[in-house]
Amino acid sequence: MSEFSENESRDRSRRDFLKVSAGATALTAAALESGLAQAVKAAEELPTVTLGKTGAKTTALGMGTSWSLAPSFVLAALKSGVRYIDTSENYENTLAEKVLGEVLERSGMRKDVYLVTKNGRAKVGGPGAFAAFEKRLEGSLERLRTDYVDCYYLHGVEGREIPLLKDPDVKAAFEKLKKAGKIKFCGLSCHDRRLPEIVTAAAESGFIDQIMIQYNYRTMNNDQVRRAMDAASKANLALVAMKTQAGAGSFREVDASPRFQEFVDKGFKKEQAAIKTVLAEGRMQVVVSEMTNRDMLRENMAACLDPKLSHRDRELLEQHRLATSHLYCQGCGHHCEPAAGGAAVADILRFLRYDEVYGKTRTARALYQALPESTRNLASTDFAAAQAACPHKLPVVELIARANRRLG
Ligand code: SF4
Repeated sequence: MSEFSENESRDRSRRDFLKVSAGATALTAAALESGLAQAVKAAEELPTVTLGKTGAKTTALGMGTSWSLAPSFVLAALKSGVRYIDTSENYENTLAEKVLGEVLERSGMRKDVYLVTKNGRAKVGGPGAFAAFEKRLEGSLERLRTDYVDCYYLHGVEGREIPLLKDPDVKAAFEKLKKAGKIKFCGLSCHDRRLPEIVTAAAESGFIDQIMIQYNYRTMNNDQVRRAMDAASKANLALVAMKTQAGAGSFREVDASPRFQEFVDKGFKKEQAAIKTVLAEGRMQVVVSEMTNRDMLRENMAACLDPKLSHRDRELLEQHRLATSHLYCQGCGHHCEPAAGGAAVADILRFLRYDEVYGKTRTARALYQALPESTRNLASTDFAAAQAACPHKLPVVELIARANRRLG
């Protein structure tokens, strides 16, 4: 079953979750109070890590928040010991920050959490950088009901934005915000096709303390990514992984062949193996996961509590990677985009994944429609050439057509 075509169980759990969360719109003080004592206890159980040169200590499992967050679920994650929260002004059009602010204020747990938010709407350089960053940050702080964030990111840095990482005004803007006590550290997130260049530029910038990048068992062995990560490790940046799942779907859903029966028999899910693979490598300090229900929370915690993979587990995961590489776009647009006249193939397929796999149709449509016309120049583009250039054999022609149908 294609990752792009269906993910019914995830959709079902999402629908179930939405039904539940729709009824749980208000956060009650009683629920918070009863959860607080358990929260402090559970925090001792998840493994803690040191975030590179920041020296900050937090949990290896972080909570992603780019979905319709339910206050009760945020509290459940805190109760379970999660102490790293990643958000952005972009998520749910600022609603994620508002929900987090409410929970953190009423639970009194703001200082227990390493909190990251992002500037996604004013990534500007030059003399106007400070005013723009400060204005965006002030809005985030107000919604988050706090007077500082632990790390403030440039959200989703793209290849064309690399000059920002070399811009003295951007550096000065971040430093001024640090001095004012409004941010502790500076960072960026990235899943752009030019990720290796962006990571290298961050390592050389002298002011980026932390990065969050797409990193998973499909992409982590890419030579360019490895070299860039070596530079980031040498600069002692705090390293945070996102998109560790490399596409949804359990072993059974994606490949029902008997070779995965071993995993299935011992209740080992691909989702857990994917997290373990990233953590076992030892480079990434935190895995940020979009957990949208309590089962996922429990499974991710189990993976972080025991990140070891046996030799046999690794073999099975590698077989799975090879058998399913045509189902997951790795974002390596340098292979296919020149053949497609510069069309944004990697971005378009990522947005299709947001829609079909993660159920984020509204976000996917907005992102797709915001692409410059010249980069989603579908009518006059020969995507057959892009398909032929894809080393992972993705059915690019069919996927682009589907993206246009669903998101255009
Ligand atoms: S379609 Fe293929 S070559 Fe293009 S970005 Fe995706 S995986 Fe890479």
